[in-house]
Amino acid sequence: MTQLIPQTGNIPRPFASIVSQPYWDACARGELMFQRCAACNGITHTPAVMCAHCSARDLAWERAAGTGAVYSWTTVWRPQTPDFTVPYTAVVIDMDEGWQMLSNLIGCEHDAATIGMRVAVEFHPITDGVMLPYFRPVA
Ligand SMILES: [Zn+2]
Repeated sequence: MTQLIPQTGNIPRPFASIVSQPYWDACARGELMFQRCAACNGITHTPAVMCAHCSARDLAWERAAGTGAVYSWTTVWRPQTPDFTVPYTAVVIDMDEGWQMLSNLIGCEHDAATIGMRVAVEFHPITDGVMLPYFRPVA
């Protein structure tokens, strides 16, 4: 049994683009954001300039509740680089607003993930002050 924890090594860091900078700025404030389309009300994630549903360019940022349920997961024992602490569990989360995101599960045993497990976001730093969103099980 191994407790899942945030990464602490020198893992590859995200590089913000002009499009994704608001997302990473929000993470640094402890807020999780997504984009909603003014034309069709659809949600787009990851950050983009055009709506993933109707291609409109009228996307506005909204703050997510930060809660959702595990849609799928995989536990990694052989990482891409030796900088990652293993095991880690990559999860796809069905966010409560109706969008999905890829993240990591923390705060439970490596074999505890189940489909539908309720989770909530929390943020942990990596290099250069970048904050990454992780998800922890909640009751
Ligand atoms: Zn749209």
